[in-house]
Amino acid sequence: MKKVYKERLFRIITGAIAVMVVTAGLTSCGPAAEETEKTIVAVTILPQAGFVEAIGGDKVEVVVMVPPGASPHTYEVTPTQMAQLSKAKVYAKVGSPVEFELTWMDKLIAVNGAMLVVDCSEGIELIESGEEHHHEGEAEAEEHEHEGVDPHIWLSPKNAMIMARHICDGLKQVDPANEAFYEENYTAYTEELTELDSELAAELSGLANRKFIVVHPSFGYFAREYDLEQIGIEQSGKEAEADYLVRLITEAKEYDIRVVFVSPQFSRQSADSIAREIGGEVVIIDPLGKDVPENLRNIKEAVKQALENNG
Ligand code: ZN
Repeated sequence: MKKVYKERLFRIITGAIAVMVVTAGLTSCGPAAEETEKTIVAVTILPQAGFVEAIGGDKVEVVVMVPPGASPHTYEVTPTQMAQLSKAKVYAKVGSPVEFELTWMDKLIAVNGAMLVVDCSEGIELIESGEEHHHEGEAEAEEHEHEGVDPHIWLSPKNAMIMARHICDGLKQVDPANEAFYEENYTAYTEELTELDSELAAELSGLANRKFIVVHPSFGYFAREYDLEQIGIEQSGKEAEADYLVRLITEAKEYDIRVVFVSPQFSRQSADSIAREIGGEVVIIDPLGKDVPENLRNIKEAVKQALENNG
């Protein structure tokens, strides 16, 4: 009899402990626990944050290294960002290569060696720049376009799909429980981008004039995709030399180019002076918009208008 009593008491106690554990678990299931459950993904630039959110939805929290308004060619990481980065499960790098990553990637990995590093550029055919509109005496080319590669890979729907694919694979690897969720979102996102690609191709196909001028040449992949020609005012990430500007103005007049594009992250001084020379106007397009499909549509609209209105 005594033994049975003891066993019953033991069961009651263990039962009570189990209840306490469960309750403790429940009480910590407030907003705080929910936050920690999200997979923290670090990215270099805002367009990648757009990709991560499209694929990861409410299962992820994104940390962007190069904040809005800053340039990935020059930005320096803050201590706060280093602290945020230490909690990241994945780092999606552009990989094209962008100066920010060339300068900082090793240091970021040193802060958080456990995070999975995903290279978004894998499988993208990189543009060897500096071939067109390249002039003698520009030995500093490597400074911006590292070894002659155009790093701005994210501004084409096809490239965006590849980048999103890498991000999807990375999320599945660190959070396999939500694999189906990520795949579903990826499929929906690629459908959107495929549709957008056809739309852009159709709308940009009929233009007679296909050259556009931009201060910082970030639209090389966009131009390649739709058979347009980007003419950069900056040469190898540096302000243009006077003789180059003279040639550029002559060319603009020859092709009846009436718009000079600038990006919010860069000075518009050279754009203003060229616009004055050619009797044209300055129009802003942003290479770093977070919502890539929406931004590509805006860029298409601006470029189309500019090319329709010239001549
Ligand atoms: Zn750039």
